[in-house]
Amino acid sequence: MVAPATTPQRAIVEYWVRQAVYRRLGTHLPRTAAGPNPLVVNVSARHCHLTPEAVEVLFGKGHTLTPWKWLYQDGQFAAQETVTLIGPRSRVISNLRILGPCRSFNQIELAYTDAVALGFDIPLRLSGNIEGTPGCMLMGPAGFFELKQGVIRASRHVHMHPADAEFYGVKSGGELKLRIGGPCGLTLDKMLCRVDKSFKLEVHVDTDEGNACNLQPGTQCELIR
Ligand SMILES: [Zn+2]
Repeated sequence: MVAPATTPQRAIVEYWVRQAVYRRLGTHLPRTAAGPNPLVVNVSARHCHLTPEAVEVLFGKGHTLTPWKWLYQDGQFAAQETVTLIGPRSRVISNLRILGPCRSFNQIELAYTDAVALGFDIPLRLSGNIEGTPGCMLMGPAGFFELKQGVIRASRHVHMHPADAEFYGVKSGGELKLRIGGPCGLTLDKMLCRVDKSFKLEVHVDTDEGNACNLQPGTQCELIR
């Protein structure tokens, strides 16, 4: 099954228009518009990454994830499938979205607000670094799956192509700041840079961070040192 193609994000269209206008005017691009790629900022709502084995336990033998919405990073998608998360005090989050494709480990990414509602104490971790983190129970239409560990708040980060990293003067594992405009504007420090040839320039913040500054599709954002 093929998920519908997504329309370009507003930030990308604005980037194209800005480049075209400045070219027409014959003037130099301001630094905010001169990067090799448009800066896309997306808010990641709570979600989970699962192994193929966990998907089979939750949805039935032989079940594979069905793409529902393609994400900005190539090949990544929000699946049609969702699960119910059961926390330590039997409080639940229903319709927790699964992101695909499947991974080699199970991980659940929540905002602190989600964790407070569940009665969890969760650590701030880099995606994939889940040693010693709390676990939880998941429920799907075909069964229960227990995670021994893997519930985290993911560190805010920016996916960068090497060309972006060079433009912004950072290396993989380095940090930038994200300056967010608008009436609730703020600057987020410690934006971890993840550099890979397969990445498109994209910031991932969670719903707590997005809501704190009322981040909208048209909000002006800038990566700074
Ligand atoms: Zn990310």
